[in-house]
Parts: sequence; structure tokens; C-alpha cells
Amino acid sequence: MAPILEIDNLTVSFDGFKALNELNFSMEEGELRTIIGPNGAGKTTFLDVITGKVQPTEGEVRFKGRNLKSLSEDKIARFGVGRKFQTPRVYLNLTPRENLEIACNRNKNVFASLFKPVSSGEKLTVKGLLETIGLVAKSEIKAGLLSHGEKQWLEIGMLVAQSPDLLLVDEPVAGLTDEETVLTGDLLLSLAQSHSIVVIEHDMEFVRQIATTVTVLHQGSRLCEGSMDDVQNDPRVIEVYLGEKPTISDRQMKMLRIVSSMAWADGSIAPEEAEVILSRLSGLFAEDAEQQQHLREELRNYLAQDVSIEN
Ligand code: ADP
Ligand code: MG
Repeated sequence: MAPILEIDNLTVSFDGFKALNELNFSMEEGELRTIIGPNGAGKTTFLDVITGKVQPTEGEVRFKGRNLKSLSEDKIARFGVGRKFQTPRVYLNLTPRENLEIACNRNKNVFASLFKPVSSGEKLTVKGLLETIGLVAKSEIKAGLLSHGEKQWLEIGMLVAQSPDLLLVDEPVAGLTDEETVLTGDLLLSLAQSHSIVVIEHDMEFVRQIATTVTVLHQGSRLCEGSMDDVQNDPRVIEVYLGEKPTISDRQMKMLRIVSSMAWADGSIAPEEAEVILSRLSGLFAEDAEQQQHLREELRNYLAQDVSIEN
């Protein structure tokens, strides 16, 4: 099968700073590709350059074999690239069904699509979409009353309604509950059966749920690529994620590392015990749940390397 998206030697400079730096990337039609990378790695810029929001400084982006150079955002969208932003952009005063009907008719304006009778084909499409995104029971309430997660699903549905050839999804589970996160993963997996999708995400558990091939970006380049297991065990990836700014002071981090290395020292610790130790330590040093999780991950990565107390 031909690649749907090919990126050759792509550099994007902002006043000399290279947000993307000689990046090479390729994905096949029908693939679900997950892109991860620490803050500032260039993930959002990557999407911006595919959608035409940002122009390459050097290199080339080819979509369905065509160079996107100097095509407007609008043209690229009509050519089949659909992007889901982090914040949902749905019409809050309309119902999910009405939102989807408008999305099916994106060439017409909102009012025209509202007052025009909906064709039976469209009705079927909308019905199918409501089922896919799990909003059948809420199809007739105002979208403003939906939860954050439900709004995200509605927007994904609206994107799909426009039948793009490539779906770009930026951090779909930021701010969602655990349950909504799992459901979002299920939704993307079901869409992946018939779509090419790029998902950018920070939440590792979520990435593990959906990922087949993961691309790791770092400083604007591709650091590595492979299955979730491959990339998670890649020392370069561990290094890069360790290099992220710690949520606690250097002194505290040093102390924590010594204590956790000591706990690990005899090497006979069971994984469950290890998790308990990490949780307790993180709980002592970080205030809120998110920081604690971040710290837990930092320590886990640190201890995954062969460490001794001396360093
Ligand atoms: P990510 O999404 O992986 O966190 P971004 O693509 O947003 O990373 O940013 C990559 C780098 O490029 C960051 O250091 C960011 O500050 C910089 N950057 C992004 N957009 C601009 C811009 N318009 N002007 C200047 N610098 C930018
Ligand atoms: Mg970003």
C-alpha cells in the first residue's frame, strides 16, 4: 500500500530556532500512528505543518502523493486532512444530532443546513455516527449539557462526518476522567478500522491502550519508532523523559533517588512492592495527584536503568 503521508527532511524554523529539525516520517494508509515526545518536542508544530498552518522552512510534506507546499489550510482540509483540536469546537446550543448534520454538510452554512430537510442518506450517516461515538441516548439534548469527554467524542464524530482521508487528533484525553479516557481509546480504535489516524498524546497509559506503532519526537527530530514496548525500553527514550523538568527541587530529587535506589538495592523486590514504595515516596514529595503520578513515572524510569547509589 502507498504511504498516505510522507515527510522528507522537514525543518521548521521560528527566528532561527528549529521546532522541527530534518524530520523524516512516513505512514501507510489505514494506519493508526501515535506520536509522543516531551514538551517542546515539536508535536504541535508537526500537525501545524501538515494542516498548512505553518510552512516548512525546508523539506517536503506529501499527502496522498501530493506535495502540500504553499497550499492554504482550507485547500488542505478539502483535500482530506481533518484536524481535531484540543478544545472541542461544537455548537453548544444545538443537539449532537444537529451538530453532526451540519458537519455532514460542511459546504453549506449553518442556517441553510438547519432549515433544509435532511436527506435519508444523511439521516443514516448521522445515526451511525451517533452510535459510533456513543451519544444515541443524548442525541436530542443541547451539546452544552454534555460532559467534556462527550463533547470531545462529538467533535471526533463531526470530523469523521466530513470523511477526511487522514484524521489528526491532538491530545484527545487531556482533562478527561479515567473512564472517558478508556472510551476515547475504544472510539479511536474502532475508527482506525476504516481511517488513517495520527494521535498525539502525553498520557502513557492511554498510548499503551491504542498504540500499534509509536513515533517518539525529540527536539524536532524522530528519536525512535516502534511498538510501545520497543520505545518504552529504548534507553534514549528513557533518557529524554528523564530529562524533563522534575516537579520537585534538585535536592529533593537527589534524596528520592538515593532512597529509591536503596529500596531497590537487593533486586528482590516484587513489582507490587515497588509500586507501593514509589507511590509512598511520590506522595511525600508532591502535592497533587498529577504531580505525584509524574514523579512516580520519573522514578520508575530512573530505576528501570541500572542504577547504583553512587551516581
Ligand atoms: P510540543 O507540542 O511537542 O510541546 P511545539 O510544537 O508546540 O512542541 O513546540 C516546539 C518548540 O517550538 C517549542 O520550543 C516552542 O516554544 C517552539 N515554537 C512553537 N511554535 C512557535 C512559534 N510560533 N514561534 C516561536 N517558537 C515556537
Ligand atoms: Mg503541543
